[in-house]
Amino acid sequence: MGKWIPLLSDFCYQNEFGIEGSFTIAFVRQHHNDWGTAQDHWERIVSRVLDTEAIPTGASGTEAMFHAVRASTVIIDRDHKGRCPHCAKSSSKRRSATLQSKTEGGQ
Ligand SMILES: [Zn+2]
Repeated sequence: MGKWIPLLSDFCYQNEFGIEGSFTIAFVRQHHNDWGTAQDHWERIVSRVLDTEAIPTGASGTEAMFHAVRASTVIIDRDHKGRCPHCAKSSSKRRSATLQSKTEGGQ
């Protein structure tokens, strides 16, 4: 299944999904310009969406991927304000440490 998921870099060019290159740039930038990590998180998000009702029943493999890719960008841009949901999940564990260092660094 993983090999069906389009590369983030594909969106920098004209693509059948209609995704803007700016989506890829913003997503990769969130991962400190680490394309490998960004691609890994992208694939996790898309494969999770593939298992939801965002995909019409009876959709072919290509149709299902189209819907999953479109739905994933909406989830990231609208529901998560452009943040990577996968990173958001793993960073919440570190939130208390971050808050503490912010307080110490304040006035
Ligand atoms: Zn991420």
